[in-house]
Amino acid sequence: GKVVSIADTTVVRLDTDEGITGWGEACPLGPFYLPSYAQGIRTGIGVLARHLIGLDPRQIGALNTRMDRELRGHAYVKSAIDVAAHDILGKSANLPVHALLGGRQMDAAPMYWSISQGDPDDMRRQVDSARQAGYRQFQLKVGGVPADDIERIRAGLDGARPGEIFLCDANTGWRRDEALSVARATADLDYIFEQPCDLYSDNLSVRRRTPHTFKLDESLQSPQDVSQALQDDALDIACIKITKMGGLSKSRFARDLCAAHSIAMTVEDVWGAEIVTAALGHLAISTPPDAILNTTDLHNYNDIHIATGAPQAHNGTLLVSDAPGLGIEPDLDVLGKPVAIHE
Ligand code: MG
Repeated sequence: GKVVSIADTTVVRLDTDEGITGWGEACPLGPFYLPSYAQGIRTGIGVLARHLIGLDPRQIGALNTRMDRELRGHAYVKSAIDVAAHDILGKSANLPVHALLGGRQMDAAPMYWSISQGDPDDMRRQVDSARQAGYRQFQLKVGGVPADDIERIRAGLDGARPGEIFLCDANTGWRRDEALSVARATADLDYIFEQPCDLYSDNLSVRRRTPHTFKLDESLQSPQDVSQALQDDALDIACIKITKMGGLSKSRFARDLCAAHSIAMTVEDVWGAEIVTAALGHLAISTPPDAILNTTDLHNYNDIHIATGAPQAHNGTLLVSDAPGLGIEPDLDVLGKPVAIHE
């Protein structure tokens, strides 16, 4: 029953006294997906702004320290500011943002295609059409009525080819008993079981009693959550989303922690358009190849486009620009007038 048809995104523009402008974006997936909501970002930025004006945006660690001191928690509020600071640092150094995150590690990042929960036959057809488009990784959205989800999983994996990867993502939708019954009924199939339950303790319990490769997403909302999950052997794969973690700085830390533990990752974001996709593309392309499972091109799921220069999908991979900063140019006609100006 959770459907998002319009995503309310917030674009942040940081202007410096040297004439360099940085852009960031943060977009919750409705107010019910994670403890975040679109209006909260705008309100939170209003609370933070007076503490940030006058700071050097290139000192990104100090900027984050200040944000964390002035507003406890609310990581998602700070994400677009941290991303915009990376855009400024990249432009001022004439380097792409991926160079600030460890440097380019691959020509293009592997992608998955996400398939909304629906009729099993329709989901199978969507897998086929993504396959035709060059994708080798498919995420099936489940987390509904377990008996229906078992059919969805069987239909989606029907005709799976060697080398293809399937993720079945419940997005916290099942109780513990429901997750276990789906896992048992599909134990013969090879797929990645993603975030079956809401509570971390439920996921940990299910993980210890299922044969499937196990991925956590919504349970990982900070680098500390990632650290705890690693200590508990709670996951095989981690989902790093920039806005969830609170920006590129904290996402990079979580990413490097996972890579150091040989934990593969999905590197992406909650939702968003071209600016979000550029940020996640730079993080993905600078991830060690052995540690990245996949990434995504969120802007290509949208009807409205807010900038040019964003990473492009090509044959199931994501191509990321080497232009300075994020490499995007916002379309101010589409964005319209600012909803707030802090100076
Ligand atoms: Mg997920």
